[in-house]
Amino acid sequence: MYFVSKSGIQSAVQIILSICFLLIPNFSFGNDESLEEKRPPNILFFFVDDMGWQDTSVPFHIEPTELNAIYRTPNMERLAAQGIKFRQAYACAVCSPSRISLMTGMNSARHMVTNWTLNKDKQPDTDRPEVRAANWNLNGMCASPGIEHTIHATPLPQLLKQATYRTIHCGKAHFGANDTPGADPLTLGFDINIAGHAAGGPGSYYGTNNFSAAFRNGGAVWDVPGLKKYHGQDIYLNEALTREAITAIEKSVRDKTPFYLYMAHYAIHAPCEPDQRFVDNYKDSGLTPFQVTYASMIESMDKSLGDLMDCLVKNGIDNNTIIVFMSDNGAASHAPLNKPLRGHKLTPYEGGTRVPLIVRHPSMTKPATVCDKRYVIIEDIFPTFLEMAGVQNASQIGGQIDGESFVPLLNGEIASLDYERPIFWHFPNTYDQPPYSSVRSGDWKLIYQHTTQTLELYNLANDLSETKNLAESQPEKTRTLAQILSEHLRETKAGMTIKRSTEQPVPYPDEVKFDNQK
Ligand code: CA
Repeated sequence: MYFVSKSGIQSAVQIILSICFLLIPNFSFGNDESLEEKRPPNILFFFVDDMGWQDTSVPFHIEPTELNAIYRTPNMERLAAQGIKFRQAYACAVCSPSRISLMTGMNSARHMVTNWTLNKDKQPDTDRPEVRAANWNLNGMCASPGIEHTIHATPLPQLLKQATYRTIHCGKAHFGANDTPGADPLTLGFDINIAGHAAGGPGSYYGTNNFSAAFRNGGAVWDVPGLKKYHGQDIYLNEALTREAITAIEKSVRDKTPFYLYMAHYAIHAPCEPDQRFVDNYKDSGLTPFQVTYASMIESMDKSLGDLMDCLVKNGIDNNTIIVFMSDNGAASHAPLNKPLRGHKLTPYEGGTRVPLIVRHPSMTKPATVCDKRYVIIEDIFPTFLEMAGVQNASQIGGQIDGESFVPLLNGEIASLDYERPIFWHFPNTYDQPPYSSVRSGDWKLIYQHTTQTLELYNLANDLSETKNLAESQPEKTRTLAQILSEHLRETKAGMTIKRSTEQPVPYPDEVKFDNQK
């Protein structure tokens, strides 16, 4: 069972809460305009599922790519024109780990929800001849203690709620397994839950299918909950979620209450079902039918972003609302290539982890700017949002919070984040990909393959596609990064993949030979 330093986490959370109450002004929401000026900014986190770094007409590479030319995301372009685009933003390589990192501020090696979750005490991992999965937190996260195989922590929305925010969950949750409290976003600090539950994908995107997989004999576990009013209607899931989100925003405006809208689309996760409103836009493009489906799903997601941006303007809150756009992992293997990146969702390569990130902060970001001097990772969202909400120095709280606030980057103050700052990924699992751990520091990235106990070293500055393994030719750099990665795994007490021959954990990366490898 992995209760990762519960007392430490509780201490960190208590400190956060104490600082919240000490530093947040006494917000009240009367009609007085001076009071309204003190209102903390609304935060709209627009979180897309399985969207690759190049699945957009907004170039995140140094130059537009073939995929940028295919896709149509005019509202992402509009958002990028208003704010800052991060070229080097990362998430975990798969859904649940990313979502738990943003909810807790912890790296995946610490929270140990290292693969996707669904049913209590059941895991998607399969045994391999050499290894089996680590003892990971396969039940996800919980806000209260006592549930086996969960990480127990106080989640981000609960802290924002304490800081006067109305916390709205809309779309995909995927925080905790069925039959555990964490399956319900209302147990994790959300005031409102629209359509979120344990599952990480929708049964169907179509209202005519009641958003259920029943029409293809799929399990009821995938039925999107809470949208019965749209059942039987010719409406796409993204549209239904957007309408519900707009209703929740407008109620917050009427109630003069700041909101945190966690707009976590099911799109563009499988099942791949075209949004017919956009299919004709690609009929003469030369794309395959599947590519047209995929492109229509992306454009459908983008329309939702545009509708929400319009809603902010219409309701007079555009100048007091922060918008953050991000994806939870790289494109899935069924998607068109992630060029120029190597790999896809679940892999340790950039195609699995590098994601789009755009931030529009009304009082901080300058129009159409780019952050290319620093990289950020999903657990940074936690302290970033707390700082945006008025909690100062959130990035310095406790050793249990791995993320760092990137608020200083929003107006170009890059000096506050160290370019060599190591960031980590940990996948001691056997689903889809062989297990691995990896670290990036500066331009360098080291991958430790658990099954073969081998190391791969890449220089991302001149080999973004990770084609040349430099582990043998750069032994000093390899040794240094192996030590950094090992220290992190030891410090976080990360569960390691188990060798079947010995029933012992695989060695740490600084314990394996990497030169003269055959
Ligand atoms: Ca995902």
